[in-house]
Amino acid sequence: MPEHARLDIVIPIYQEQENLPELRRQLAESCAQIEGVDWRVIYVNDGSKDNSVPIILQQHQEDPRFTLVDLSRNFGHQAAISAGLRHTDADAVIIMDGDLQDPPEVIADLVACWREGGQVVRAQRRTRQERGLRRLGFDAFHKVFAWVSDFPIPSNTGVFGLLDRQAVEQLNLLDERNRFIPGLRAWIGFDQRTVYYDRLDRAAGDPKQTLRRLIRYAMDGVFSFSYKPLRLMTYSGVCISAVGFTIASVFIFKRLFGFEVAQIGFTTLVTLILIMGGAQLVALGLIGEYLGRIYDEVKQRPLFVVRRAYGLGKDTH
Ligand code: UDP
Ligand code: MG
Repeated sequence: MPEHARLDIVIPIYQEQENLPELRRQLAESCAQIEGVDWRVIYVNDGSKDNSVPIILQQHQEDPRFTLVDLSRNFGHQAAISAGLRHTDADAVIIMDGDLQDPPEVIADLVACWREGGQVVRAQRRTRQERGLRRLGFDAFHKVFAWVSDFPIPSNTGVFGLLDRQAVEQLNLLDERNRFIPGLRAWIGFDQRTVYYDRLDRAAGDPKQTLRRLIRYAMDGVFSFSYKPLRLMTYSGVCISAVGFTIASVFIFKRLFGFEVAQIGFTTLVTLILIMGGAQLVALGLIGEYLGRIYDEVKQRPLFVVRRAYGLGKDTH
């Protein structure tokens, strides 16, 4: 391990003007306590329309360790993180949210775990303060993901964590568009370790990940990491056909041997048609999910577009 290791902290920022001053204070305070590292913060502005950029540039002026990658518009949480990861050449990189839900004091624990040999260090929540529908959604997602994915991620982990140089380079090589970073991070392998912490509530402002986005994110998680939904379709098709053939054989048998055949009522028929029609549409939708993702890959559009970078090398500002 080099004497003075370089540590970059990648933070996606979308309209976090209320949180930025406190975030900077806590980051500086927490990082000052870690010995033997030169740290730097890479804020990735994901198309904020509030005062986040002026505030960050002010921080950059006052302390050049706070740098900025300014994206040309809003590309989403995962793309913003990916942009940050492509701009770092540090020995270790922390990824964390900018709303203080991921407490900066945990950085010291992550670094300690890295120094003990961890290459991918996940921060796992001991507790979570979200309640109600969101909470239920998170729990349900982790159950589904654990079931479908070949690369399970521990439940209660998000993007918060540390990656060493080798892990970052591998992650950068995974060029897929619909990114689900916790899954990709599990996929790359290496020495994966866990550090526990208590997740706080968002310090200020509304959640920027709306329910719709979270659902999309969850779907990326499932569809990018599993063919199981497709297989499930095949299996249910086989089961339904089996039931159909059985019923048909019973009817034929009864007809052939002169038994009375019960008339199926109109209600039964309509119900069956609607259920089967619905099931077929769901199946088509599932195929569509994969097809749409294939389309995204084929187009080969970049994951993000950078307007300008500040403080990250000679060719930037
Ligand atoms: N974020 C982003 N782009 C977006 C939405 C969110 O960069 O389109 C950032 C946001 O500023 C925050 C982090 O991603 O730093 C997590 O967002 P949020 O707290 O809304 O998500 P949640 O905690 O609900 O998962
Ligand atoms: Mg949050």
